Amino acid sequence: MTSANLEAFFAAIAGALGAEGINRSEETIRRYGENTMPGGDRPPAGVVYPASTADVQLIVRAANTHKVALYPISTGNNIGLGSRSASASGQVVVDLGRKMNRILDIDEKLAFAVVEPGVSYQALYDELVRRGNKLMLDVTSGPPQGGMIGNALDKGAGYSPYFDHFGFSCGLEIVLGNGELLRTGDGALDSKDLINWHTSKYSFGPILDGLFTQSNFGIVTRMGVWLLPRPPAVRSFHFAFPDDDDLETIVELCRPLKLSNFVPTLFRVSNDLYLCGSEGESPEYRASGGKRSISDEGRRHLRERHGLGAWNVSGAFYGPSAAAMEPQIQRVRDMFGQSGKARYISHEDAAAIPPLQVAINAFSGVPSMGELGLLKWRPGGGNIWFAPGTPMDGRVANEFQRLCRKIYNEFGLDYTAMNVCSARFARGLHVITFNREDADERARADACYRTMSEEVGARGVFVGRAPVDYHGFHMAQTLPAFRNACAGIKAALDPNGIIAPGRYGIVETRERGA
Ligand SMILES: Cc1cc2nc3c(=O)[nH]c(=O)nc-3n(C[C@H](O)[C@H](O)[C@H](O)COP(=O)(O)OP(=O)(O)OC[C@H]3O[C@@H](n4cnc5c(N)ncnc54)[C@H](O)[C@@H]3O)c2cc1C
Repeated sequence: MTSANLEAFFAAIAGALGAEGINRSEETIRRYGENTMPGGDRPPAGVVYPASTADVQLIVRAANTHKVALYPISTGNNIGLGSRSASASGQVVVDLGRKMNRILDIDEKLAFAVVEPGVSYQALYDELVRRGNKLMLDVTSGPPQGGMIGNALDKGAGYSPYFDHFGFSCGLEIVLGNGELLRTGDGALDSKDLINWHTSKYSFGPILDGLFTQSNFGIVTRMGVWLLPRPPAVRSFHFAFPDDDDLETIVELCRPLKLSNFVPTLFRVSNDLYLCGSEGESPEYRASGGKRSISDEGRRHLRERHGLGAWNVSGAFYGPSAAAMEPQIQRVRDMFGQSGKARYISHEDAAAIPPLQVAINAFSGVPSMGELGLLKWRPGGGNIWFAPGTPMDGRVANEFQRLCRKIYNEFGLDYTAMNVCSARFARGLHVITFNREDADERARADACYRTMSEEVGARGVFVGRAPVDYHGFHMAQTLPAFRNACAGIKAALDPNGIIAPGRYGIVETRERGA
């Protein structure tokens, strides 16, 4: 991509979208290049702001003509995974969120919404409340300004029965890398009157929607999101466990409650630092200059201060009233009580402990900021997510807990993890918080991430999502046939390779002899 190509591209976009459709100021380039990764910022060549699907097609066609690489973002709040940063410096960020932020439809009878990329969790939540709070949206416990499309396409998740954000999306509109407009599901019908686009996931032909998750084959401009009827009452329950190895018991207790679907939410099983870490800087960071992990004694003090355990379990029931759910709560208390180690924390008591209030909000479909405090556990703003998972087998989950904790300690970092438990699988959300302004700490965070990935990979565990610095690294862990299949699809849908080249390690060139 030469500077002549870029100039010709920006001239074409300025001609079509006007001056306000582009920003190439130094300040904007700096802001859009910022992220929390160890590998440094990735300043783009500039930013373009489409206002419609037709604008996106125009941008993609101009990029094909001038061979310019684009990087689409929705709201650009993918903090800890890349923020607004492109796969490589010098790509042109397509910021869909600035102008394409309309809620296109809310169907109260069939309980779904249709959104553009810039619609944030907070915006849809506010609109649902404005309409009488009859429907509930599944939210993340991350930034409220993050959006449904960016999150679902990155296979993000929440905590209510509709936790699987890609799974509970229905019907996409996509501008492919070749500029063509694709509608998935029932939207593929050649008709103007589509009545099932956002209600039926399994329509005629192959299911193409999944191709647009964690990939770079197209730019999604519209998505259907399924909503739950808002329950009259949400009643949470929480248990604190004293020891690190209690994870084994906890997973064994959670599994039957999820397999039978007795508990409708996912279980958030968070360690002490995942919860206390959002409440202030590490009390030992300054003394060790960030060289050492927090001591066991330091963790104990934090737990005592916040009324939490080494592991903390949270879940919730939905029902007509708090009283009506008492028998369900009692049954869960009885089960956890059998461990002889669980300390019960009631809904009311949890509401007074800010990190547990985050869990209550997440189960209640209410966006909240509390967990963002984790970014300040160490100074300097460094933050990456390591997201492996384990089967819901207590012994296996605990082995991985021990392994990752040991690796964090070897690199002088602080083991911070939440296991999000469903029936058969638990996603292990690990936060690596580090001082990005300290070269040594940055290098240790990077080495910690890579070492954990290699160690869990050697034991048969892959990550479910990855920070932008590690897309190529993880793609190299896959089978050659997987890489070639991705390359073949890329070549078919984006023959000039203009959309986010390298995102999730996908390139358009097949490997020979695989
Ligand atoms: C403390 C904390 C807690 C968090 N908790 C959660 C959590 O509970 N669950 C969770 O899932 N995440 C969580 N996150 C991660 C994150 O905040 C969200 O996933 C994020 O908001 C994603 O939405 P977005 O609109 O910001 O996506 P963006 O940043 O806009 O995009 C995300 C990725 O998708 C691609 N993309 C975006 N839009 C399009 C498009 N229209 N077409 C094609 N590709 C596109 C982009 O290239 C980018 O790589 C957390 C983060 C933090 C810091």
